[in-house]
Amino acid sequence: MQLPDEIKNKTLKNIARKVMENIPVNRDDAFAMLTTNDIMELGAIADHIRTQFHGNTTYYSINMNLNYTNICTLRCPLCAFSCDIDDERAFVLSMDDIEKRVLQAVDDGIDEVHIVGGLHPDLTLVYFEKMLRKIKKIKPELLIVGFTAVEYDHFAKINRLSIEEVFRRLIDAGVGALPGGGAEIFSPRVRNVIAPDKITGKRWLGIMGTAHRMNLKTNATLLYNHIENTEDVVDHLFQIRELQDETGGFKTFVPLQFHGENTRIRSKRRFSTGYDDMRIYAAGRIVLRNIPHLKALWMYLGEKMAQILQRFGVDDIGGTYTNEKVVHAAGAKTSDYGTEPFLRRMIEESGMVPMRTTANYQNGDCLAMGVSEGQ
Ligand code: SF4
Repeated sequence: MQLPDEIKNKTLKNIARKVMENIPVNRDDAFAMLTTNDIMELGAIADHIRTQFHGNTTYYSINMNLNYTNICTLRCPLCAFSCDIDDERAFVLSMDDIEKRVLQAVDDGIDEVHIVGGLHPDLTLVYFEKMLRKIKKIKPELLIVGFTAVEYDHFAKINRLSIEEVFRRLIDAGVGALPGGGAEIFSPRVRNVIAPDKITGKRWLGIMGTAHRMNLKTNATLLYNHIENTEDVVDHLFQIRELQDETGGFKTFVPLQFHGENTRIRSKRRFSTGYDDMRIYAAGRIVLRNIPHLKALWMYLGEKMAQILQRFGVDDIGGTYTNEKVVHAAGAKTSDYGTEPFLRRMIEESGMVPMRTTANYQNGDCLAMGVSEGQ
């Protein structure tokens, strides 16, 4: 498959040549892509990789969000969702609450449950084992995408267990894959402002590496649109690429546009433009060619940008996410529940073919990598 001749920008032309010859791009290339104004040319290169990997398929999923508690000992400045234990907004879901919510969502036809929450000081691993077994009992085929690396680190500490032992117990209880949250941005300078008490980027990568070695597939995220600079984004992308070269365990890369309402970094941040969104997704597709999928969560970006990004490397627009709380607490204006027809229309109107899937992509092939996603 040839890239269009109209790539005139010399640097982008060189990047296009590398893509055609399967040569990995370098950090200078990434910097150039994240700052170029030749946005359509950049999009054409990313679209080439997307088409090579997935043809004209765009994936979506039917899922629910389960936020089991908003009580969190970290209280990161970037977070609008968490609160202290004595706050009037504080909640912890009981097993009955969880059962009710999952039963309702199963009635609505979900295929997977995404579980994330705050770092509660007293919830032991037994609570999570019970939760997972209860969900699996309701519908054994449900894929449980459970807990960020930050939560696994917390579980290990408060239960005095190794990370491996925490994974072993939660896999046994039903965890099938990991979301990619908590990565934020690895730069210590930025992390120190937006989430000073959160695990370091190095620790996040270490926990993900352990998950991969225990056969769990995971996502990787990048939080942008706050106080990061271009070098921070480049460095983040390359640290993810290096781990992926070692383990091959990242299934999907998910850039997350930060929403700042009700957070303590609201006044410090800069705002990204539509061009920034397009550059970040396209550059992500091109740098992280060793990760099969690139997801744009419509709920973070709005449906119009989610449609456009399907021409900038994106092959997955996310799911229904019934009951999403985290990004809406931070001011996202999108609905907290997109129906299946709504998602399919968003894809079809971009000229793509919708395919329903889960975080493990059991029904989709990555054409260029020559692997069945279910493996
Ligand atoms: S971002 Fe996560 S770890 Fe930080 S305060 Fe919010 S829930 Fe807690």
